[in-house]
Amino acid sequence: MVFGVAGVPTNYKGSFKNLFPWLKDLGLNGYEIQCTYGFKISEENQKIINQNREDGFFFSMHAPYYINLGSLNSQVVGRSKSNMKEGIELAKKIGVNRIIFHPGGGHENTVDGRKIAIKQLIDAVNEFTHEIDMEDVRLYPEIGGKTASLGSLDEIIEICKNCEYCYPCIDIAHLHAREHGSIQSKQDLIDRLQKIKDELPEKFKYIHFHAYTINYGDKGEIKHLKHGETMPNGDAGRPNLDDFVEVLKEMNIDPWVISEALDSQESGAKYMCDLYKEIL
Ligand SMILES: [Zn+2]
Repeated sequence: MVFGVAGVPTNYKGSFKNLFPWLKDLGLNGYEIQCTYGFKISEENQKIINQNREDGFFFSMHAPYYINLGSLNSQVVGRSKSNMKEGIELAKKIGVNRIIFHPGGGHENTVDGRKIAIKQLIDAVNEFTHEIDMEDVRLYPEIGGKTASLGSLDEIIEICKNCEYCYPCIDIAHLHAREHGSIQSKQDLIDRLQKIKDELPEKFKYIHFHAYTINYGDKGEIKHLKHGETMPNGDAGRPNLDDFVEVLKEMNIDPWVISEALDSQESGAKYMCDLYKEIL
């Protein structure tokens, strides 16, 4: 099991090196490296990552937001492909084998427009992953939070079915937001996860999760909520994290869960981790 945070938590003020003992004290063992502005990690931080990985910490890596393999602009796709290749080389160098990326957008938001964009993304991924040695690196297209962005549950499944190296990154908050509040019960989660399991039987055990609560509107995601924060109408934050952890248990999923709770990633991650251990 892996429970961790995305990027350096806002509540942490020390050095990058001391972050890992701080996370360990909270009982956490996962860290998603946020390459928001490019696949670049200083030599010094690479050493720190390697050291902690050898000591049993689990690292995943989030691709820059400007990567857009689903774009209709061929130059953007070309650049995104070479960026992804750089990211894979960097991941191999530091022993990270999960790279999370957003499928992107910019297509016409119609059934046909989306189909074309997904087909193009699949072709692009299959091209660059076969041009290099992937070793054990897996790529994780993530569920998109906005209704217009690529990355519905069906689209993620479609990509993973057609790309040897792609595995599902299920951001349960994004899923809930883009479907206008669809995750209201344990059964809602079980239905989604069972579908992924049925459609991607070989890949399911490598599933990657982002979990936190979220506010949404007509166009999907508006804002990640703080851990424990209520919805604007006073209701408890959704998706319900207790339900989520119980479903992980009931479905025998070995979890790799990253919290992206607003300014409180470590609290969200610790909450889910403690609960998971409690049910053990
Ligand atoms: Zn993301």
